[in-house]
Amino acid sequence: MKTFPGLLALFLLSLALVDKFTPSTVLPPHNWLQTVDKSRRVESSTTRGEDEFAQQRREMVKEQIAGRGIRDSATLRAMEAVPRHEFVPESYRKYAYDDGPLPIGYGQTISQPYIVALMTELADLSKGKKALEIGTGSGYQAAVLAHIIDSVYTVEIIKELGESARERLARLGYQKVKTKIGDGYFGWEEHAPFDAIIVTAAAEHIPPPLIKQLKEGGRMIVPVGHPYFTQDLLVVEKKDGKVTSRDILPVRFVPLTGGPRK
Ligand code: SAH
Repeated sequence: MKTFPGLLALFLLSLALVDKFTPSTVLPPHNWLQTVDKSRRVESSTTRGEDEFAQQRREMVKEQIAGRGIRDSATLRAMEAVPRHEFVPESYRKYAYDDGPLPIGYGQTISQPYIVALMTELADLSKGKKALEIGTGSGYQAAVLAHIIDSVYTVEIIKELGESARERLARLGYQKVKTKIGDGYFGWEEHAPFDAIIVTAAAEHIPPPLIKQLKEGGRMIVPVGHPYFTQDLLVVEKKDGKVTSRDILPVRFVPLTGGPRK
């Protein structure tokens, strides 16, 4: 009878010790090792990943962009600088520097790198100029423009895409790009006129509000044609009040929606 309280006390003490020591003696070193291992692995694979992406980007510029005749050095530098893999969904990252468009959700696409470079070069930008992009999509084209000029405005009609592009651009350091959710057919009047307007969706005609918002001597780059077939990539210029356009090459863009109510 006398030993019972003593045994009970011993039992309780052993429980307390097990409770106290088990987690700190067994689990933490184990976890700690795993954490260290994991973080090392993640860190090195991220760095390696970034190096690999930069390497892929250099090859993309050399083969797809410079190799196809883009000569403007500011455009080439911008294409080499913007991390395109950050603008595509996670599952497409490995294809980010391939020679083609990629899906970005909501039935939309990020354009082929060569087309982005071509439109950028055709826009004829230099420091101090102001550009408007219609069709923000992922924000990639806007980021490319932001490497060349400080005033970049971009309008997207799909709210979710516009919002995620805004966050992405801010996260990647492109805070100076001004984004807006709205119908780009009508441009962005408060900030007009623009030296350049780049329309990255297929229009059936050149939107008159955009011609109005183009500066005298400015240029608009716009794919015009049937929304579900190929379109002609046009350079539209406004000189001495006259509007002229020339055809560059056939392209295929997703349709420009919105516009005047029919
Ligand atoms: N420039 C984008 C890709 C453009 S895809 C990039 O670099 O990722 C074309 C985009 O134009 C789509 O996101 C589509 O939603 C948008 N769009 C279509 N019609 C529009 C309109 N009327 N106004 C603004 N954006 C429009």
